[in-house]
Amino acid sequence: MNRPVAVIGAGPFGLSTAAHLRARGLPVRVFGDPMVSWRAHMPAGMLLKSTPAASSLDAPRPGHTLADYCDAAGVRRLVTDEDIIPVETFVAYGEWFQQRLVPGLERVRVVSVDRHRPGGFALKLDSGESFTARAVVVATGLSGLAHLPPELAAGDGPAPGGPVSHSGQHHDLSRFAGQELIVVGAGQSALETAVLAAEAGARVRVVSRGRGRVGFGAPPWEQPRLRPESPFGRAWSLWALSYYPHPYRRLPAQLRHHLVRRVLGPLGAWWLRDRFEGTVRVSEVRRVLGTDIADGRPALTVLTRTGGTERLDADHVVAATGYRVDLAAMDFLGPGLRTALVVSRGAPRLGAGYVSSVPGLYFTGLPAASSYGPVMRFVCGTEFASPRLARHLAAAHG
Ligand SMILES: Cc1cc2nc3c(=O)[nH]c(=O)nc-3n(C[C@H](O)[C@H](O)[C@H](O)COP(=O)(O)OP(=O)(O)OC[C@H]3O[C@@H](n4cnc5c(N)ncnc54)[C@H](O)[C@@H]3O)c2cc1C
Repeated sequence: MNRPVAVIGAGPFGLSTAAHLRARGLPVRVFGDPMVSWRAHMPAGMLLKSTPAASSLDAPRPGHTLADYCDAAGVRRLVTDEDIIPVETFVAYGEWFQQRLVPGLERVRVVSVDRHRPGGFALKLDSGESFTARAVVVATGLSGLAHLPPELAAGDGPAPGGPVSHSGQHHDLSRFAGQELIVVGAGQSALETAVLAAEAGARVRVVSRGRGRVGFGAPPWEQPRLRPESPFGRAWSLWALSYYPHPYRRLPAQLRHHLVRRVLGPLGAWWLRDRFEGTVRVSEVRRVLGTDIADGRPALTVLTRTGGTERLDADHVVAATGYRVDLAAMDFLGPGLRTALVVSRGAPRLGAGYVSSVPGLYFTGLPAASSYGPVMRFVCGTEFASPRLARHLAAAHG
């Protein structure tokens, strides 16, 4: 049986998984636009929140870390917790990794995946080609999962040129120069978008909601020394979630979903504080009640912390409100597959080796976070996920 394994996605998780599958001698076809989430859906000039130790794509053999890329490209070596990674360097690293370990990647979209009788999967590509695969790995990351809360919906839906957009719709924030901008959210994406837009000449207000107060992490030299080190800082909880995600999927569903949202939740990077304070105004509110458009300008009605209501208007509102896994939004999965998948709050339930309830269908990256924990939302999750997924798939379908 020479049918390939199909890997859908060419971000950090798809590339790392494909490299591990190839190293096991499996025929693999990999689809997607390499590093597109980082190149086109994050702001130019962004700096990574993760440290160099937590920003390598896991590879089946040595020589492919971020530091190895810096050496090969002749750029400054990024290794200590105080070295901050520009997004442009990280994109170039991902493309270098792809050219070395995943050559032959196909820059096409998978438009449908269905079960193939008697076995395997039937795939259609937007090039018009159809083929069958012995197994499928879904590594589509952030694509299609941008979350816009209903109270921020206004006009014809989020659009960069409309009154309200999602943060993932922007790359060049200089479009807001000279404008009044509201950024809703309190996570790193919200705070960094606000700073970059302000530095580009916008007048910016961050609106944080509920418990999401604006705050910044401690710099590396102020991290508590007596707690174990993890890619996200020193804490027992972070250490356990980073290095032992295996038992995570056996926790009660409510606790799993809670941890995915709360651990490593909204907090700005330590190095952003100085650029933020004094540059960006902040409104901490209980809730946004709704959004309306008056004279082409969006206005938020908010419930203040003291229980009153207030209107905040601007030329544009950016919702930095994150991403939510929802299988219904993965429209390339055929109806037969979607109904066969066991789902928990919109996310696939995964077993050992990242396999779903449909044998041969695997998920990694963000869609795996509700089974394997918050580490799956970050690049360093490839270290745990990729070798395990490849081992399981090779044993079951090799
Ligand atoms: C603003 C922001 C900042 C972040 N900063 C950090 C950070 O500092 N450190 C960190 O570890 N994480 C960070 N993250 C999280 C990070 O984005 C994810 O960890 C990572 O990108 C997930 O990689 P992935 O491979 O799962 O998906 P993605 O990088 O989203 O890649 C998805 C891939 O799927 C492909 N694809 C989608 N649909 C199809 C289809 N139908 N057919 C073919 N291909 C398809 C795309 O072309 C793309 O190649 C950040 C996220 C955001 C939004």
